[in-house]
Amino acid sequence: MKEILIATKNKGKIREFEELFSQFGFRVKSLLNLESVIDVVEDGLTFRENATKKAETIAKQYNIATLADDSGLIVDALNGEPGVFSARYAGPNKDDRANMEKVLHELIGVKDSERAARFHCSLALAIPGHSTILVDGTCEGKITHEPKGENGFGYDPIMYIPQKNKTMAELSKEEKNEISHRALALKKMKEVIQSVL
Ligand code: IMP
Repeated sequence: MKEILIATKNKGKIREFEELFSQFGFRVKSLLNLESVIDVVEDGLTFRENATKKAETIAKQYNIATLADDSGLIVDALNGEPGVFSARYAGPNKDDRANMEKVLHELIGVKDSERAARFHCSLALAIPGHSTILVDGTCEGKITHEPKGENGFGYDPIMYIPQKNKTMAELSKEEKNEISHRALALKKMKEVIQSVL
């Protein structure tokens, strides 16, 4: 079975990647399976820059095909924030609830028609000996006025998805995998992976 390293410790993302990659016949390893991993500083100004830096650094360290994602929430009424700072929007602890509360707080008084937002995912695949492959996926929605739903992670409970008439956190894993930014980016990556690995 082909093996791929997913450069993340985020259990929510690992679950989603495992599910998606099992369809393609890949065994998934993550940073949770490895010891003494370099801490890659995500100091890029774009999702693409951060994903590339993570994938290339880890691929070089372990000499294995490595997929890194950098993702986040872009809110139009907040000039694109939290953007690349999504994980730490409310502080260094990566606290999902505090992050959601901060977005809701910043949007107090903003009308429904102006609460458009999208999840963005940039995926970088670094394969030793090849040039890095980059793809993107987005998922459009609207920020709610309060959290709703128990599934998923991060900002899912405050992201209303019009095409499903539910928040992202009310979708099953399968439903989220049909429409999510990460799933769409992965679909784009699929053909490349199959031909290169
Ligand atoms: P990263 O680990 O630097 O890519 O941080 C991504 C952050 O964006 C996460 O910690 C979440 O706050 C948010 N995020 C990314 N993808 C999702 C998603 O599918 N649902 C909800 N929040 C997400």
